Amino acid sequence: MLSERFISLAAVLDAVRDGEGITQATLVERTGLGRSIVAQRVAELEAAGLVASDGLGPSTGGRAPRRLRLRAEAGFVLGIDIASNELTAGIADLAGTLHGTSHEHIDLDSGPEAVLATAERMSNVLMEQAGARARIRSVALGLPEPVAFTSGSPVALPTMPDWDRYPVRERLASLSSAPVWMDDRVNLLALGERRVNPEAGRSEHMLYMGGGASLGAAVVMDGRLYRGARGLAGAIGHMTAPQANEVICRCGKVGCLDTVAGGAALARDGRLFADTGQSPALAAVLADTGAVRPIDITRAADNGDPAARALLNRAATTIGGGLAALVNAYNPDLVIIGGGIARAREHVLGPIRQSIRQHALPAATQGLRIELSAVDEEIAGVIGAVQFALDQLFSPAHLATILSAAQAQST
Ligand SMILES: [Zn+2]
Repeated sequence: MLSERFISLAAVLDAVRDGEGITQATLVERTGLGRSIVAQRVAELEAAGLVASDGLGPSTGGRAPRRLRLRAEAGFVLGIDIASNELTAGIADLAGTLHGTSHEHIDLDSGPEAVLATAERMSNVLMEQAGARARIRSVALGLPEPVAFTSGSPVALPTMPDWDRYPVRERLASLSSAPVWMDDRVNLLALGERRVNPEAGRSEHMLYMGGGASLGAAVVMDGRLYRGARGLAGAIGHMTAPQANEVICRCGKVGCLDTVAGGAALARDGRLFADTGQSPALAAVLADTGAVRPIDITRAADNGDPAARALLNRAATTIGGGLAALVNAYNPDLVIIGGGIARAREHVLGPIRQSIRQHALPAATQGLRIELSAVDEEIAGVIGAVQFALDQLFSPAHLATILSAAQAQST
């Protein structure tokens, strides 16, 4: 059981992180804790090197109050975002300001050993460049699949057996002695969106739909990510879609939304339209590159290709049906469409909005905003990973570790 001490420490630190230059009087207001408790916790955080004075605030009659700030310079965190064919790594200070990022194409099918070796190599370069080698305090990693949050191991689908319960944390232990945290990357995309997009940051009840080859959603309840018992909350790609009938999904079941509206399904149907000549634009792409990717369908739609537009419209309408079920279940005030499908912008936003409003309870869609992501996916994942690394580092459970280490050093 966590003691009140660490819960109140985390509350004070959270308030300092949120409000640069905050005074102790404002901390008392924000946290609801007593003045003497706040003073004690601030002293403990200062002794641990996490909080420092930041000049004086305006006086309200007596002595001018001390302003406080997070010591952003007291260390670094690494964020690693692994998508199905891309890997982005970033290094940030304790305020979450990025000091460097790097990006490479990967093949997830090459297995965890090869992919994690790439992550390790890229992270080593970033640490060297930032002069942060011995100063990493937390590492966070996003995977394009559910992660059992408490055990920190991937919950792989049958098509990715290599990743199932792979000891990712142990594999990355050579990077630094800092703890390694993992989550489904769609959760990290949602955290990144909340950090960068003020509308998402303000929402306490949000759904974020993302995903590349397959679809996934993050659920934010009462301002926090809701992961479920095994990290599978929001697995929208495997909801039953009436249009999917008997199509076999990569999860081994039939009738999943992914099989008709996921990125892989779009590529498959685009290829069919190219092969049959129904879409001259996609036929030209296929002749040129030997493949049809979802982004090619978006480009063809942008150029007015009716078959490509119909494909995106159908996928978006089907996705909207799945989102409507989640809207009924979770009653959000904001739905953000991110991931690969968001690149098709106006081709998908209208049909998704229409489909959600058609299928969800009218009372659940009253005042509901449905918007495209405001953040570039390539960077949203790494911003979210950094945010996740910091949130875990400054959680009550981990603060206990930090403070006992600081105490041991000072005695
Ligand atoms: Zn499935």
